[in-house]
Amino acid sequence: MTGILTALCAAAVLAQPPAWFAEAEVCSGWYRQWTDEAIADMRGLPFVIGVPPDALVIAKAHEQGTRVLAYVTFYQMPAVGEYQRANLAEHRDWNVIGADGSETDSVFASTENPGWKAVCPNSPAFRDFALEHVRYLVSQGVDGLFIDNAHPSALCEGPKYGRHEHLYAGEDNIRAYRCLLEEIQAELSADGKRRALIVNPGEPRPEWAGACDSQMLESYICTWASKTRWHDEGRILAFQKSWGDSPVLALSYIGHTANPPREDAFWCYAWARMSGFLWADWFTAKDTARELYTLRLGRPVSEMSLKDGVYSRRFEKGVVAAAGESEGGTLKVAAAEGKRAVDVFSGRGLEPDAGGVVTLAIEKGRARVVVFTDE
Ligand SMILES: [Zn+2]
Repeated sequence: MTGILTALCAAAVLAQPPAWFAEAEVCSGWYRQWTDEAIADMRGLPFVIGVPPDALVIAKAHEQGTRVLAYVTFYQMPAVGEYQRANLAEHRDWNVIGADGSETDSVFASTENPGWKAVCPNSPAFRDFALEHVRYLVSQGVDGLFIDNAHPSALCEGPKYGRHEHLYAGEDNIRAYRCLLEEIQAELSADGKRRALIVNPGEPRPEWAGACDSQMLESYICTWASKTRWHDEGRILAFQKSWGDSPVLALSYIGHTANPPREDAFWCYAWARMSGFLWADWFTAKDTARELYTLRLGRPVSEMSLKDGVYSRRFEKGVVAAAGESEGGTLKVAAAEGKRAVDVFSGRGLEPDAGGVVTLAIEKGRARVVVFTDE
């Protein structure tokens, strides 16, 4: 048994993400209806998460150049009723079983998903279902998957209570889930076309690194769950230190603090980009900071640094900067030769001084982006 199982978990890990994914600087998610109007609103974003498995809808998004990822979860299911084309009530060998023999509830059963149960990535039948569902989504034309709730229940006593055997006998479900991710990643690109895999553990986890193309850091700085910026400068810098320049998708929910939403959007965007993260807002800043969706700064050409009270990082086509939370500062950057420098927030052009240096004062708790443009 062990030999077979080791082989299963040795699915070839795909090192390079698709080029369109590697080059993306922002993205978004849309969990409501993908109407023609909603799809048109996505124009300019490299990819959007949450597409329904509907080949016609996917084709419409593709026509305007928007790639699409389907939303799935392989952590939980409703106890009864069809979900992701299956009904858990018909599959008694999929549930996670607790130490007392009962079916384990989803951690969201007491909040947004009443009656939902945890499902077992270590169950052979559930694994087969998950891979089959991935094949179905690929057949509809998706460019990748977003797997939510990547925090499996570590313990399952399914074998002890006769509900199912385990693929990885003696291993906890963290290992089993990791193996499932690797298998899904291989399945996604089985036809030779590289598709993207993003997982959402809430905050990135070392256990999933390498088994996906990106991990989500949800509720980054701004969130629906807090009326103030949720992560302070120390925490933001800690994320940057732990995960900087690794493939992290930072998702900020704008519009829940007392700050102008445009300020919060630039603040979250700036910290994400300076940290080397992909940034998303799930369309919460679409009416207040929409130009962030189409900003393309290119690759970073410096590390993030702190000078004159301002953190900043230079990219091929611009500079992203943020003052500290308690004091403002001044951004001073060398202008790009032959280009015009523009402060994206105000839309104003910035004139370089005689030494070719562009200066921009930034108040505390605010962030700005300067682009170098031909226009
Ligand atoms: Zn199990």
